[in-house]
Amino acid sequence: MIIAIDGPAAAGKGTLSRLIAGQYGFHHLDTGLTYRATAKALLDAGLPLDDAAAAARMAAELDLANLDRTVLSRHDVGEAASKIAVMPAVRRALVEAQRTFSRKMPGTVLDGRDIGTVVCPDAPVKFYVTASPEVRARRRYDEVVANGVTADYAEIFEDVKRRDERDMRRADSPLKPAEDALLLDTSEMSIEAAFQAAKTIIDAELSRNA
Ligand code: C5P
Repeated sequence: MIIAIDGPAAAGKGTLSRLIAGQYGFHHLDTGLTYRATAKALLDAGLPLDDAAAAARMAAELDLANLDRTVLSRHDVGEAASKIAVMPAVRRALVEAQRTFSRKMPGTVLDGRDIGTVVCPDAPVKFYVTASPEVRARRRYDEVVANGVTADYAEIFEDVKRRDERDMRRADSPLKPAEDALLLDTSEMSIEAAFQAAKTIIDAELSRNA
């Protein structure tokens, strides 16, 4: 059983994925971390972010068991990740590792930008989680402030829009809903309500296969 969850930054897909994985005892992979870890490896090696050959090498050497969310969640790492994510050779290496992960038993939840369209197009359950840029920027802002860091809402809002633009416009695997994905708009819906909606769909799929 593979559950594919896509959507833009700060739409709530991470929280939703973790709730689903916990509910069904499935393995979860936040594929954003794989792009972040690749970018961070380049930064740590002092290499420029436009060195596509080095980026592809880092991507191929990545160990999925070793992704540290605390370090990788840094804002500058996210920006760097979206820059190397446009490189086809990086995507090829990471998608291969993600596909291998997706076959773990008894099931997996993968979240990212291209899971339902490219990584696991045959996943029986796909969600596209979104929210308005204002709501997503507000969530990011609240998160940062809750961690005791000062933040500027206007700056975060511009960041969110710039990241969306880069992810939706790239030629290789742009962010878009798969044709058979169920849309969950969390602008006005709590993550808990989105989880309940997702659970209904997943339960139906599981009983169809029982
Ligand atoms: O989701 P997160 O913000 O951690 O992702 C960081 C960046 O990695 C995204 O802005 C996107 O450019 C890239 N990414 C991707 N495909 C995925 C997951 C993330 O291109 N499946």
